Amino acid sequence: MHNKTLAEYSKDLQSKKYSSRELTQCFLDRIAQYDPTLNSFITVTAEHALNAADEADKKIKAGHAHPLAGIPVAQKDIFCTLDVKTSCGSRMLDNFIAPYDATVVKHFNHASMVMLGKTNMDEFAMGSSNETSFYGPVKNPWHTDCVPGGSSGGSAAAVAARLTPAATGTDTGGSIRQPAAFCGITGIKPTYGRVSRYGMIAYASSLDQGGPMAKTAEDLALLLNVMAGFDPHDSTSVDRPVSDYTQILNQSLKGLRVGLPKEFFGSGLDPKIAELTHQAAKELEKLGAEIIEISMSKLNLSIPAYYIIAPAECSSNLARYDGVRYGHRAEHPKDLIDLYVRSRSEGFGDEVKRRIMIGTYVLSAGYYDAYYIKAQKIRRLISEDYQNAFKQVDVILGPTIPTPPFKIGEKTSDPISMYLSDIYTIPVNLAGLPGLSMPAGFIDGKPIGVQLVGNYFEEARLLNVAHQYQQNTDWHKQSPEMFK
Ligand code: GLN
Repeated sequence: MHNKTLAEYSKDLQSKKYSSRELTQCFLDRIAQYDPTLNSFITVTAEHALNAADEADKKIKAGHAHPLAGIPVAQKDIFCTLDVKTSCGSRMLDNFIAPYDATVVKHFNHASMVMLGKTNMDEFAMGSSNETSFYGPVKNPWHTDCVPGGSSGGSAAAVAARLTPAATGTDTGGSIRQPAAFCGITGIKPTYGRVSRYGMIAYASSLDQGGPMAKTAEDLALLLNVMAGFDPHDSTSVDRPVSDYTQILNQSLKGLRVGLPKEFFGSGLDPKIAELTHQAAKELEKLGAEIIEISMSKLNLSIPAYYIIAPAECSSNLARYDGVRYGHRAEHPKDLIDLYVRSRSEGFGDEVKRRIMIGTYVLSAGYYDAYYIKAQKIRRLISEDYQNAFKQVDVILGPTIPTPPFKIGEKTSDPISMYLSDIYTIPVNLAGLPGLSMPAGFIDGKPIGVQLVGNYFEEARLLNVAHQYQQNTDWHKQSPEMFK
């Protein structure tokens, strides 16, 4: 029962093959059995889930339910949930219960989907390995001594181990696509502004974007139908109608122009990943696509630009955690300054502190022009690089990450090498474009992903390409032996 796609669950639930309560119980049992090994959930909301399942069953019985009604889903612990703790992976918010639901959560509730709980993540979504969480690292279900990727590592591991049929993630520089690749699942970061950020705890507001993570592209299309749309509560949400993302899934790839940037295949990329990426290109070619070599020479500037812009925005966003309004408060402060300093020192972990310091530095009067403004100019160049590429091709194909999943602890003392793992995903956020990662093979039993990037609001096309690929390959059907 735990291995089906959303379309299959939908059919089974509507035809009463089993109830939402039975399905929900099946996943709650799997969480109880396996999550002590994986640590993919911060909070499991069993009682809440069973009540929601009963409500969904009633609606299904009455014959007026949403097609995804009664299907369980897990929320990354960055989305605010009414009455349920939202920690953002931080000690700072270990005691925080939001007074409202994020818009994304509201959309899932309106569809009568069942929230199983809140998934583990890097602290404030800062990380690429899920090792910065206050709640401890998440294990990769394929190799439990390896990281699942980050920052949405809990969501990716939970979907891969079939502890939930689907989950949400957020992606500021790769946090949906990178863990999806490391865990052998499919994930999409939509165009900036397509999914509401209201109630999604801010890391770097001009880059953050929520999106779905699931086994297949078809599942992502169904989930994006629920998640996407204009939200007057989010000033950067785009007021533009949402198409039905399932509509063109079956369109032929004949004549599709797929760009392979030659710069992607330089040193730093594991040669076996290069090979698997070329294999994926061949597969698309067999389906009628035309593979075109392109050049994108500015993308290598994305890591330095990102590590100015993201920390700058984070230092500003995280200023609100002062021990006064909400979140962790130090005990017995001497005075106001002592309250601020100790609340923040105790509440934040090392990586968050590192980013706040860098961000504060690059925004300070003497360095603003040299770092922050310069980084913004580079950001523009990167966007232009993409727009030039899209004059020649419809989608861009490349690796999602340069290496297979690495060992827990392997990179924690070397932040630069950790930052480099996002080299292929970060430029997509800087440009605000949609990007999708899908499973494309294995190296020594560890999953590898490839990334498709499209022009603004071309989510449907990315899902179409991925769906066609998945109709003809079965990498996405594999699941880790330990959690069968
Ligand atoms: N790994 C990147 C960072 O640490 C991206 C994280 C994300 O997308 N949230 O900032």
